[in-house]
Amino acid sequence: MFQWPGKKDGGSETERPVYRDPNDLKGQVAVISGSTSGIGLALARAVASRGGDVVLNGLGDPSEIERTRAELEASCGVRVRYHAANMLKGDEVGDMVAYAKHQLGRLDILVNNAGIQHVEAVEKFPADQWEKIIAINLSSTFYATRAAIPIMKAQGRGRIVNIASAHGLVASPFKSAYVAAKHGVIGFTKTVALELAQDNITCNAICPGFVETPIVSKQIEDQARTRGMSKEQVLKDVILGSQPTKRFVTTDELAGIFLYLVSDLGASANGASFSIDGGWTAQ
Ligand code: NAD
Repeated sequence: MFQWPGKKDGGSETERPVYRDPNDLKGQVAVISGSTSGIGLALARAVASRGGDVVLNGLGDPSEIERTRAELEASCGVRVRYHAANMLKGDEVGDMVAYAKHQLGRLDILVNNAGIQHVEAVEKFPADQWEKIIAINLSSTFYATRAAIPIMKAQGRGRIVNIASAHGLVASPFKSAYVAAKHGVIGFTKTVALELAQDNITCNAICPGFVETPIVSKQIEDQARTRGMSKEQVLKDVILGSQPTKRFVTTDELAGIFLYLVSDLGASANGASFSIDGGWTAQ
């Protein structure tokens, strides 16, 4: 069916499309995996501060998570819920998506963001870490997307944003599982985009360079151990060494591309990977 943005009934080719203001997310519902911290929490704030309702998810101290949830709800005047799905478990991931529809009435935006890292030479890489990284960083994206599609199809619109990484496009040593999972996310993103291209549902990947979040602080320690370097050296030569801007990407910069992708203006961005990495993958 011919489909202009903003037209539930499809519209006709002679009409001009109607694009809703990308800063207005009122009435929309977003589910964001791994949003108790870092990038996911920043994207949850980006949605809530523009009027959208949010389902938070992720690990952490329950009272701290409740504080974050209540603060976001009160400061933005939207509905914020929390679902404790463990991204290692496909059935729980599916429950999280169903919970959004059940609790908040709809599902417009799915962000597959939860992720972990382990840094180790491949011949010593622990099998359990390999399995966990593939499950959390890649398979949870499949389980959540599979559960979201029927809801989005019934609504006639949807936006799926997968947080991949510069490591979805290029590799670094000692990150075999993470690099494999993130390359997988990009392949999955392309397939979903093709399958849903005529359903007014888009699926894209954002590929951040290094962002200053807990996952990176831990990596600095692990890299220092694996490479026998000081933490300061790792930060300068390993972490920011690959990023030509020589500074971290900010979560506001990621929210910028995210808001574009979930808006009506992003309707023709589909199956793409957006590098927000200070030029890292241009090298
Ligand atoms: P983070 O550690 O701050 O956040 C990770 C989130 O995932 C947390 O909310 C955590 O609780 C959640 N999580 C981990 N395991 C989980 C599980 N089993 N079940 C449910 N939730 C779980 O890190 P971040 O930097 O915000 O990372 C978010 C995403 O961005 C990840 O996919 C990461 O790979 C990706 N990324 C990060 C960077 C960076 O430099 N920080 C760069 C590129 C891509």
